[in-house]
Amino acid sequence: MDNPERMSHVIGIDLGTTNSCVAIVEGGTPTVIANKQGYKTTPSIVAITETGERLVGQIAARQSITNPLDTAYATKRLIGRDFDSEEVRTAQAHVPYRITGGRAGDVRVVLRGKEFSIPEIAAIILQEMRIVAEDYLNDTVDQAVVTVPAYFSDSQRQAVRDAGLIAGLDVLRIVNEPTAAAIAYGFHRGEDKTIAVYDLGGGTFDVSIVRVTRDGTFRVVATTGDSFLGGEDFDERVMEWLLEAFEAEHQVSLRDSPVAMQRLRQAAQKAKCELSTELQTEIQLPFIVTEGPTGPLNMHYRMTREQLEGLTEDLIERTIEICEHALKHANLGSHGVDEVVLVGGQTRMPAVSRAVSKHFGKAPSKSIHPDECVAVGAAIQGAAMLRQIEDVNLEDVTAHSLGIATAGDVFDPIIRANTRVPCRVPSLFTTSRDGQDRLKIVVLEGESKRASENQRLQEFALAGLRSAPAGSVEVEVAFTIDEDGIFSASAKDLETGQETRIEITADGGLSAQELQQLSDEHAEYLELRRGEELLEGLRQSAETLIADLERALDRLGALVKKSPEAQEAEELAREVVTRAKPQLAKASRGELAEHLVLLEDAARQIDPFAR
Ligand code: AMP
Repeated sequence: MDNPERMSHVIGIDLGTTNSCVAIVEGGTPTVIANKQGYKTTPSIVAITETGERLVGQIAARQSITNPLDTAYATKRLIGRDFDSEEVRTAQAHVPYRITGGRAGDVRVVLRGKEFSIPEIAAIILQEMRIVAEDYLNDTVDQAVVTVPAYFSDSQRQAVRDAGLIAGLDVLRIVNEPTAAAIAYGFHRGEDKTIAVYDLGGGTFDVSIVRVTRDGTFRVVATTGDSFLGGEDFDERVMEWLLEAFEAEHQVSLRDSPVAMQRLRQAAQKAKCELSTELQTEIQLPFIVTEGPTGPLNMHYRMTREQLEGLTEDLIERTIEICEHALKHANLGSHGVDEVVLVGGQTRMPAVSRAVSKHFGKAPSKSIHPDECVAVGAAIQGAAMLRQIEDVNLEDVTAHSLGIATAGDVFDPIIRANTRVPCRVPSLFTTSRDGQDRLKIVVLEGESKRASENQRLQEFALAGLRSAPAGSVEVEVAFTIDEDGIFSASAKDLETGQETRIEITADGGLSAQELQQLSDEHAEYLELRRGEELLEGLRQSAETLIADLERALDRLGALVKKSPEAQEAEELAREVVTRAKPQLAKASRGELAEHLVLLEDAARQIDPFAR
C-alpha cells in the first residue's frame, strides 16, 4: 500500500445534512461509489451503542428508533454555529439527542455521556466515506475534495476544514455544492450556457447562477441561499400536523417521548417522500402510545399531496425569493438563464419543481442526478487538481460580505458578497492615540448596515505597534479569502514595511491542540477499521473458496470411477476444508492468509477433475 509509484487517489465527498455521497474519476469518467450495503448514498448519521460501539450510515439509521438519545443526525445544521444562536435553539427543540455548549461557545453533542464537537461528527462521516472508497479501490485514499453549501459562513467552512484534519484527509479544496453540481452538469458537454443551480437538500438551500463555457470554465456569477432551510423543515411541518391532530383526537401529547417522536419523524419523512409520487398517503403508527390513560393508542391518518403543499407553501416561497436575489445580483431577468438544474432530494417534491419552472420560465433540466451530482462534481474538481483530467477551470464567488465594525455600530464592508475568490483586499488602519501600541479589529460577516446585526467572525489585535503620535502609524491589513472561501488577515506597518503581529482573540473553533488530539484518536480508529475490513475481505475470500471446493467435492463424490490423482486431490480438498471451516470466524489475519494458501492450492489440484 505504500508503493510510491502508485497512483494517488482523490475522492469527491458530498457531506450532506441527510445523506453523504462519494465519487471518483477513473480513466476520465466519474463514478459514484456504492457502500457495502449497495447504496450510493450513506445516511449522515452517527450513533454510539450501549456497548460503546460506533455506528455510521444505514446501520446507525436502522437503530435510531430504539436508540434515539444516542443517535446524532442532521448535525450539519449545527456545524460552525455558536451554541448561543437561534438556529441551535431551534435544532435543540427538535432533536432527541443532547446538545450542549463547548468551551469556545461552539456546539457539542452528547452521545453516551461523551461530548463530540460537530467537526468530529463530520470527521466520522468523512472517514466512513473514505472507507467506502478504499473498499472499492482496494487501496488507501488520503486526498479529497469536500463540498459545502455555497451559503456556508466562514466559521462553517473552517469547521469542515477541521473535520478533514480530524479525519486525516488532505482536503485539497472545499467546493460549493451548487458549483460542484454545475461542474457535473457541464463536464465535457461542449456548450456555452448560463445555468441556475437550485439546490434544496436536507438542511440547506443554495442557488447559484453559473456561466458554463465549452472550454471547461465554470464561472459563478452570483450565489446566495439560506443555510437553515431544507427538507428537515418540510418534515417538521408534517410532524407538527400529525402531533396536533393526535393531540386533538386523544388529548395526549407525544412530545415528551423520544421513541415516539423518532418514529413520528421517520413516518413524516416517509409520507413526505411518498407524496412526491402519490396523491395521498397513510401514516400508520401502531402502539405509538404503549400505555395511555385508556390503554395503548395507534396513530392512523391520511394526508394528501395538497395538504402537504399547503403546509410547506411558505418554505418554497422563501426559496423563490432567494432565487430572485441571485438573479438580481447576476443582472439577469427571471427568464435570463438557459437552463435550470435541480439538486438535492427535496427538489423531488412536485410543488418545488413547479415553483421553479414558473419562476424561471422553463422546465428544469433532467440531465443530472439530484443526489449524486455534487459528489461527482467534487470528484471531477479533484481529478483536475491532480491533473488527471484537463479542461476544468473554476471561478467561484463568496456568498457573504465581509467587513469591520466601526464607531456607531456601523458595518464597513471590505469584501462584498459575490466577489470572485480567491481575493485579497488591503485596507488602511491608523492609530487614534499617541503611543498606541495595539489596535483591535472586529471582523464581521453579513449584509446588514448595522454591525451588531452581522455575524462576528473573528476578533484580532495588531500588536506591538511602534510608539508614535496619533495618526502617524499606518497599518495595512490585507483581508484574504482563499479558494475554500476561508478568511485570513495579514498586516504590515506601511512606513517600516514590517509585518505586524496578529493576535486572534476569538474565533469560536477548536484549538490546534484539540485538533491534533482528535486527529490522533481518529487515525487509530481508521487503522482499526482498515484492519477489520482487511480481515473481513480475507474471510470472505476463504468462504467463497470453501463453497467452491464443497461443490467440486460433491461433483467428484458422484463419480463412480476416479483416477488415483483425482482421489488424491479429493482427499486433500476435504482435509483442507474440514480444517479451515470451523476456524474462519475466529481466525487472525495471519491464520486466514495461511488457510487461503492451502485452500487455493487444493482448488488448483481438484479443478481439472471436477469440471
Ligand atoms: P439531500 O441532502 O440532497 O440528500 O436531500 C435530502 C432531503 O431530500 C431530505 O430532507 C429528504 O427527505 C428529501 N427527499 C428525498 N427524497 C425525496 C422525495 N422523493 N420527495 C421529497 N423529498 C425527498
